[in-house]
Amino acid sequence: MADNFIHNIIDKDIQSGKYGGEVYTRFPPEPNGYLHIGHAKSICLNFSTAEKYGGKCNLRYDDTNPIKEDEEYINAIEEDVRWLGFEWDKRLWASNYFDTMYEGAVELIKKGKAYVCELTAEEMKEYRGTLKEPGKPSPYREREIEENLRLFEEMRDGKHADGSMVLRAKIDMASPNINMRDPVIYRISHAEHHNTGNKWCIYPMYDYAHPIEDAIEGITHSICTLEFEDHRPLYEWVLNEIGWWNPKPQQIEFARLNLTNTVMSKRYLKKFVDDGLVDGWDDPRMPTIAGIRRRGYTPESIRDFCDRIGVAKANSKVDISLLEHCLREDLKTKVESRNVVEQPIKVTITNYPEGQIEYLEIENNREVPEMGSRLVPFSRDLWIDGADFMEVPEKKYFRMFPGNEVRFKGAYFVTCNEVVKDENGAVKELLCTYDPETKSGSGFEGRKVKGTIHWVEATTALPIKIRSYDYMMKENEDGEEVYNENSVAIIDAYAEPALADAKAGDRFQFFRHGYYIADAKLYDDENKVFNRIVDLKSSWKK
Ligand code: ATP
Ligand code: MG
Repeated sequence: MADNFIHNIIDKDIQSGKYGGEVYTRFPPEPNGYLHIGHAKSICLNFSTAEKYGGKCNLRYDDTNPIKEDEEYINAIEEDVRWLGFEWDKRLWASNYFDTMYEGAVELIKKGKAYVCELTAEEMKEYRGTLKEPGKPSPYREREIEENLRLFEEMRDGKHADGSMVLRAKIDMASPNINMRDPVIYRISHAEHHNTGNKWCIYPMYDYAHPIEDAIEGITHSICTLEFEDHRPLYEWVLNEIGWWNPKPQQIEFARLNLTNTVMSKRYLKKFVDDGLVDGWDDPRMPTIAGIRRRGYTPESIRDFCDRIGVAKANSKVDISLLEHCLREDLKTKVESRNVVEQPIKVTITNYPEGQIEYLEIENNREVPEMGSRLVPFSRDLWIDGADFMEVPEKKYFRMFPGNEVRFKGAYFVTCNEVVKDENGAVKELLCTYDPETKSGSGFEGRKVKGTIHWVEATTALPIKIRSYDYMMKENEDGEEVYNENSVAIIDAYAEPALADAKAGDRFQFFRHGYYIADAKLYDDENKVFNRIVDLKSSWKK
């Protein structure tokens, strides 16, 4: 991982001996949905940072909300972290620390640093003040310590209704930082918790719980996104006032990842799933790690992407074409090429012997000779790509049109002599001739042609289905990103027979088209469904 400002902070801490040279990070997801590419950035940062310094990184579920645990989300999160190539030191639950968090709150009350407040949520908002005006002290602010202890105990013992009272930190109602104006640290919720059952009916707030979780685990550098920058004084206040842990973890904020054409919120993505706009959390259009994986992205390309975007201190939006670029860079030397034609047009080579098939050697990856070659059948009956023929060519169109000679990649020069049409006037077949002298690799130098196209032998062709994706989110006229109704196209195509051996999850380059993967869910012997991961053209500019 490239150096960044977080590593500079760690380097200084190592020099000063602040944590005895240790580096301990954590990735703390709330198990309320599938992880997305934004989380991948946080995962890469936390785990790679630990790796770089020979430290450790925990996977910690942030379950301080008494939500119902969803086994599906837990499993998905763990699969995703491992797929990215990381392994946690410990797998932990924030709820395991509820006892300590409670004791910490009692400690604060005893020090006169927390009080039970009975303002309604609305009143509390009113008392909080604004960015311009200081807040007003709650009428409950000066309660006696003994009374606070008794009421907090009653809260714990279920003697009060949800919303009737809260525990607040007693900090500074005039602070310019609104997070420091006596924030709520405990609330009542008579809800069952997946881990602690009915043991608790009070639950700690995130800002109070998180520093304690970090401290208990011995986290040294607690990396989070920029929205929490204004919460850092509270993070430090909690640890300083409770005072049980030394050295204390430190919170460091970085800019969250935003990507063009991409929704980056679990809640929003869940709505797509619930509304049936996508085929589940792993729909290949989804920016979830599961969706990206099914789409065909490699973990290496995601890690490379996270590395290239770096770690910034200011929010920005990254162009999704950079992610696509990373994928192409990764696959171009890894996968074999296959000939596949879309919207096929029939070609008959009228001067090629009927019933003859010859096998031509074609390299598997032009950039990597060690990847060898395969034999591809050629005969009188072929298919070419619909995009490679124009009856009336545009300017600078060098592919097939009547009277033009082109190179059939790896085979011969072929001239189109006649266009056969059906009763509706649609092109049915191209009658062509080939020049046997021009065989590829024969050293023929008699003349040159400008266009090279690929082809598939017709009698051995394998029918496949291509799912071609557009971005799930697209800008409308007002410049807002909205759901793109036309984000999947299903294309019929023919492939050379060598593609028949593909297994679900195998990736290829379809020559001149792009990178494709046999879909993990839809591909089988009868349904050869391939996802287009990305096309070959890069729109990404440095
Ligand atoms: P969402 O709003 O999508 O639910 P979240 O931040 O609430 O995201 P958490 O499960 O709480 O999701 O996040 C786990 C970790 O991932 C946090 O440390 C969070 O800062 C980080 N994270 C979430 N989104 C991004 C993002 N877009 N870029 C970088 N890090 C992110
Ligand atoms: Mg969250």
